[in-house]
Amino acid sequence: MEFSVFGQKFTRHSGITQLMDDLNKGLSTPNTIMLGGGNPAAIPEVLAYMDRQAGELLKTGALIKAMANYDGPQGKDSFNRALAALLSRELDWPIGPENIALTNGSQNAFFYLFNLLAGEFTGGRKKKVLFPLAPEYIGYGDAALDEGHFIACKPAISRLDNGLFKYHVDFERLEVGDDIGLICVSRPTNPTGNVLTDEEIEHLDQIAREKGIPLLIDNAYGTPFPNIIFTDAKPFWNDNTILCMSLSKLGLPGTRCGIVIAEPGIIKAITNLSGIINLAPGSLGPALTLPMIESGDIIRLSNQVIRPFYENKAQQAVGWLQQAIPLPQFHIHKPEGALFLWLWFEDLPIHSQELYERLKQKGLLVVPGHYFFPGIEDEDWPHSKECIRLNYAQSEADVQAGIAILAEEILSIYQQ
Ligand code: PLP
Repeated sequence: MEFSVFGQKFTRHSGITQLMDDLNKGLSTPNTIMLGGGNPAAIPEVLAYMDRQAGELLKTGALIKAMANYDGPQGKDSFNRALAALLSRELDWPIGPENIALTNGSQNAFFYLFNLLAGEFTGGRKKKVLFPLAPEYIGYGDAALDEGHFIACKPAISRLDNGLFKYHVDFERLEVGDDIGLICVSRPTNPTGNVLTDEEIEHLDQIAREKGIPLLIDNAYGTPFPNIIFTDAKPFWNDNTILCMSLSKLGLPGTRCGIVIAEPGIIKAITNLSGIINLAPGSLGPALTLPMIESGDIIRLSNQVIRPFYENKAQQAVGWLQQAIPLPQFHIHKPEGALFLWLWFEDLPIHSQELYERLKQKGLLVVPGHYFFPGIEDEDWPHSKECIRLNYAQSEADVQAGIAILAEEILSIYQQ
C-alpha cells in the first residue's frame, strides 16, 4: 500500500506509540513490572469517589444522557461554564466559557495547537515550536504535520545535595528568533518532575509577549487539579497564555478529556478543528466531573488525597533508589511534581535504549530518556543518552522489585 507523505510521517516508528504499546502490553503481560507509562495510580479513595459519582449519575440518568448525545464542538457547555466559574473563584483569573474548549485528551489539543501556530505560513514562511527547556514530554515530538517543526534549548543543570539535581531554563543560551511561532513548556514537567520557577515562567511570558507569540503551559499535572505539585509554584495564566489541562492525571485517562484555556480567538480555532476532525469531544469525562467542579470537590480531592499520595510515593522511591544504587554517577532530578523520577547515570557506558532493552529482557519496563529531547539537534550530547524515566506511582511491591532489577543491571554495567 502506498501512503501519502502525511501517511508516511504518521506511520513510521514513534516514541509515543512505542510507549503506549508497551503500556498496553505490560498491563496485559503477567510478571512484567510496568514502571514505564504515564498511567496515573489507582488511588483507592479516588476510585471510590468516581464509583459513587458514576452511580449517582446513572440513577439520575445524566450518564446515559451524556452518552446518548453529542456535545457541541467546543465541549459540554455546562462543564465549560462551571470550570470558568471555578477558575475565576479559586485563582482570580478573568475567565469565561468563551476561554475554554474541550478536546479528546490534551494530546489532541497539542496536535491542533502545534500545527495552528507553527508550520508553513502564507508567503512560504516557516515557524517552529520552541521548547525552552529539554528534556520535554515525549508526546510532543511527533505531533506535527511537517518535519523540523520543533527546536529545543539545552538546560542549565544545578547539582543539589543528596545526589539530586535540577534543570533550569538557560536564558543566556535561549534564542527566540522570528521563526518561532509558539513557546511550549510542561509544568510540572514530564519526564523530569521539574517545576519551572515563577521567575522562569514570568521571564518566558515576557519573551513571548515581546515576540507577539503565545506561551503554552501544559498543566496536565498542575494546579488547581490534579495538583501533583510539591513546590509553591504560582498558577499562571493571562491572555497570552494557552493553558492545557486534562482529567487524565486526576485518575480518568480513559475519558480522554483535555481542556484548553486561552483567549477566545484560539478557542474558536480549536472549536473549528474539533468540529471537522471529531465532530465533538467525548462527553463522558465532562458529565462525570461536572458535579465535582460545581461543588469544588475536584480541588478538595486533589489537595487532600491526590497530591499527598504522590508526594509520599516519590519520597519513598527516592530513598529506595539511593539505597540500592550507591554510585557517585547516579543522580535523581529533584522530584517537584508529576508521576515520574528522572534518573541520570552520568558517563553511562551504554546508550539509554540499550539499557531499556536489557531491563525489558529482565521484566522491567521503563522509558529510555533519549525520546524526551524533541527539537535537540546535537546528536553527540551524552546527557541525552544517559537518563531513563521511571513511573514511581505503581504498587510498592512493583516499585521495589523494579528498583532491584535496575540496581543489579546498573551496578554490573559500571563494574565492567
Ligand atoms: N501532558 C503531559 C506532560 C503528559 O505527561 C501527558 C500524558 O502523559 C499529557 C499531556 C497527555 O494527557 P492526555 O491524557 O490529556 O492526552
